[in-house]
Amino acid sequence: MGTFKIIYLTGLGIGSIIRVIYTKSRRSNTGGQTRRESVFVFLFMIVWGVSQILALLYCVSNRLSFADYLLPIWLQWIGACLYAVSIVLLWRSHADLRHNWSAILQIKQNHSLIKSGVYKYIRHPMYAAHLLWSLAQALLLANWLAGPLALVAMIGFVSLRVPCEEQLMLERFGKEYREYKRHTGSLFPRFID
Ligand code: SAH
Repeated sequence: MGTFKIIYLTGLGIGSIIRVIYTKSRRSNTGGQTRRESVFVFLFMIVWGVSQILALLYCVSNRLSFADYLLPIWLQWIGACLYAVSIVLLWRSHADLRHNWSAILQIKQNHSLIKSGVYKYIRHPMYAAHLLWSLAQALLLANWLAGPLALVAMIGFVSLRVPCEEQLMLERFGKEYREYKRHTGSLFPRFID
C-alpha cells in the first residue's frame, strides 16, 4: 500500500475516533428545536459518506484503479499537510463546541453561543475542517471516485448549510450573534478585529 493511502487511512481512523468521543459526550444535552433543511443538504451528506467508503475501498483494493489520475508527489505532500491541519481543526472545533454540536441543524436545551477557542476567529471551523479534509482527500488519493467526489459534495453541503445555520443562530441569539459575526470570519479565520 502506498504512503499516501496509509496517511489517508490513519487520518480516517483518528477522525472517526474524534467523532465517536464527542458524539458520546454530547448525549448529556439532547432535545431542543430542530430546523428543517433542503433535501439537497442530506443528499450531499450521503454523497460525502459514500465518498469516504469509496476512499476506503480504493486504499484496500485496486478495484477503482481504472479511475486513477496522475499528481506530482509534492502536491500529494501538500495534501498530507492540509489533512493534518484539518484533523487538528476538527478536534479543536469539537472540543470548543462541546455539547452544542449536532449533525442536523438544532438549538438544544441549554444551547450556548460559543465564542471562544477556535470560534473566537472563525464561525464555521468544523465545516472548514471538512472542506480541508475533502481537498486533502483529492490530493492524497489520485482517483476520480475516491478523491474529488468528497470535495464536490462538501462544497455543495457547506454552501447550503451555512446561510441556514446563521439564520437559525440569529433567530436564537439575535444581537449577540450579529455582534459575533462582525468580529469573525465565516470559513477563513479572522485574526484582526
Ligand atoms: N458551523 C459550526 C458548527 C457545526 S455543528 C462549525 O462549522 O464549527 C452544527 C450545530 O452547531 C448547529 O446545529 C448550530 O446550532 C450549532 N452552532 C453553530 N455555531 C455555533 C456557536 N458558535 N455556538 C454554539 N452552537 C453553534
